[in-house]
Amino acid sequence: MKASTLILVVGLILTAAFLLLAEREPAVRIAPAEAVLGLGGYAQPDQGGATASGDLVMQPDLMQPGPAGREVRTRHTFTPAPEGVRPYVPILMYHYVRYVDRAVDPLGFGLSVTPEQFDAQLAWLHSNGYETVAMADVARCIRGEGPCPARAVALTFDDGYLDAHTEALPRLGAYGATATFYIVSDFIGRPGYMGWEELRALRDAGMEIGAHSVNHPDLTRMHLDELRDQIGRSGAVLAAELGQPVVSFCYPLGRYNDTVMAVTREAGYLSATTTRADASQHDPFALPRLRISGDTSQARFEQMIRTYLP
Ligand SMILES: [Zn+2]
Repeated sequence: MKASTLILVVGLILTAAFLLLAEREPAVRIAPAEAVLGLGGYAQPDQGGATASGDLVMQPDLMQPGPAGREVRTRHTFTPAPEGVRPYVPILMYHYVRYVDRAVDPLGFGLSVTPEQFDAQLAWLHSNGYETVAMADVARCIRGEGPCPARAVALTFDDGYLDAHTEALPRLGAYGATATFYIVSDFIGRPGYMGWEELRALRDAGMEIGAHSVNHPDLTRMHLDELRDQIGRSGAVLAAELGQPVVSFCYPLGRYNDTVMAVTREAGYLSATTTRADASQHDPFALPRLRISGDTSQARFEQMIRTYLP
């Protein structure tokens, strides 16, 4: 064996060993969410984020959901609360706006409101002076990075079903309301799901587009590299195609843990929503939501909102 060949072989072995170590490192060093978020509030976007969590090694071009910066242009404005006051912002969770026969599809019924129910809910919010805000604005409020709405709710839609465009969008428009749509990037354009044309229409109407993973897995059961891909790539794909940053994430199936939260934060998102209803709004990566389903009567809907915002 020639000396040059030997050097090449040794070099390859060393490189492979280094890559293996580099790959393993983050799994060991990843900090629990409490440590990531720290005691004194949240790390600012351009300082300390990586160091606070132990230098998670990310691939910036792949992992950053917001290539154009962190500002999401939301067309709707809200009445700000007095400085230093942070009112609760009820975050409502929707899936479908459609008709479902409860006897035939009880599960689907639970995930759906009828167009009439949705219309009545929007009408009541509007006539009672409640404003609607995008999750990007909720996140900025909770993180202390922007004003808080005085009396507003956030409407969120999971999964990117086609009726978000055909049923929800025109009704939101009729009441001047805004909403956040959490999209599963690999499901875009599949039967029953919105395609890029529909997503652009939502964007152009001032709706916020958030990410909801690549293909809707249980994120608590993944290796770190898969987890980063699911969380980072879903937002990156949406941001690239829609030409605006994607700063809001929603955990599929409501499943999350400290590692999932830390990876979501490191990927550049400002907030993430859960399916829990009982949590406080102090942690932007574990935001609770109120489930609105076919079972939710108008009276119950009004009571839910009034509990938080009389
Ligand atoms: Zn979902």
